[in-house]
Amino acid sequence: YIPAILMVLAVFLSIVLILSLVRIQNVFLPPENKYGMVFDAGSSHTSLFVYQWASDKENDTGVVSQTLSCNVQGPGISGYANDPPKAGESLRKCLEEAMKVIPAEKQREVPAYLGATAGMRLLSMENKPAAEQVLKEVAKTIQQYPVNFHGARIITGEEEGAYGWITINYLLNSFTQYSPKQRSWIRPQSAKILGALDLGGASTQISFIPNGPITDQTKASMFRLYGFNYTIYTHSYLCYGQNQALRQLILKLTETMSSQGSVNHPCYPKEYQETTTVASIHTTPCKASPALTPFEAAQNVTLVGMGNATECRMAIKQIFNFTACGQSPSCTFDGIYQPPVNGEFFAFSAFYYTFSFLNLTEGQPLAIVKDTIQQFCARNWTNLKSSYPKEREQWLREYCANANYILVLLLDAYKFNTTNWGSIKFQMKAANTDIGWTLGYMLNLTNMIPAAAPEQVKGQQA
Ligand code: AMP
Repeated sequence: YIPAILMVLAVFLSIVLILSLVRIQNVFLPPENKYGMVFDAGSSHTSLFVYQWASDKENDTGVVSQTLSCNVQGPGISGYANDPPKAGESLRKCLEEAMKVIPAEKQREVPAYLGATAGMRLLSMENKPAAEQVLKEVAKTIQQYPVNFHGARIITGEEEGAYGWITINYLLNSFTQYSPKQRSWIRPQSAKILGALDLGGASTQISFIPNGPITDQTKASMFRLYGFNYTIYTHSYLCYGQNQALRQLILKLTETMSSQGSVNHPCYPKEYQETTTVASIHTTPCKASPALTPFEAAQNVTLVGMGNATECRMAIKQIFNFTACGQSPSCTFDGIYQPPVNGEFFAFSAFYYTFSFLNLTEGQPLAIVKDTIQQFCARNWTNLKSSYPKEREQWLREYCANANYILVLLLDAYKFNTTNWGSIKFQMKAANTDIGWTLGYMLNLTNMIPAAAPEQVKGQQA
């Protein structure tokens, strides 16, 4: 019997050894990294974001991080309406960069998306075939790279607003929270859910959970995320991104132009002058242009900077139709419904660029903000250029206008006030990741935010 017993024992020990080796391997095998990429094709420029996450944590909260952000050189893709192949070409450098950070063996499974926003919405309204051709060309270029491309499309303003809201709250882990006491996933207090304020070149979005009901259902978006339902108010204002708004302002100012073709611009710095043509100031899809004779179109218009913040704000108010709201407190302008703002907000993209330039992102009270803007606007062009020699001239010229535009939008349209001003955080990043719609878009399209609550307690979260 003894040899037989020894044999059985040896086989048993070998099995135990093999099993424990397999277990050890399972424990120590590093989790696989996965990648995804999204192009944000904005009105004034395109950016590429590459995201990364560990596959074993795929459906957890806040585990996706940003590996790369790459700014595409040149204008936004809508700027290539007359030469669509160039829109595709413009993306190559960033695609090459992405291929350097994503391991070659992973590239084929990388989901890749391109979402175009308000610049392309406007082009599509003006010239649909040109917009389609631009999308075709960018898609053609991306398809030449070994990624799992899911298409190039124009996203709606509502998607843009809602995905920005998802991005922030995902990055800050505000959707779900494990309660060790209740031994389950609980809905965090609603006060922890942030609202989103996004300002682009051609459109602007506001998204938040109101305190009361949303009476206009066209402005409501419903989500089920990690086991809880959310209904957010979201609205996107086409033509009220900062570049289009400033174009509308110039059109308003030229309505009272002197016969010499000179117009005072209260938001441009003193000593700044710019001569353009009547035709070029009328080329915006945001305002129906009057029929101009060739003679009228060729006339020069000189914009003369006045550097006066108070007058600048008064002029900017003229591009909003506030009277269309009557006395309704739940209305912004043009008769657009919005319940009263509620909770904390993150203001990102161009809200952040201008406020960061003016050092106003530290939560300063409204009075200080207004005062800083007033003083900045009073500085003349020579002084500005010598103080900020490295700043792009177009941005430097427009910070006063943009800062005042932001004040009018937030205070007069959205109806923030001295009391709740402090609930707006001007921020560009959260958890080392840029805030914008792209991450929320990818999370949604890859089904990485489950509708059901997480099942098990993960060590790090308990
Ligand atoms: P979009 O291309 O729609 O995202 O436009 C964003 C807006 O921000 C445009 O008005 C740009 O001109 C402006 N912008 C982009 N980057 C900067 C920056 N670093 N500083 C100031 N303004 C910027």
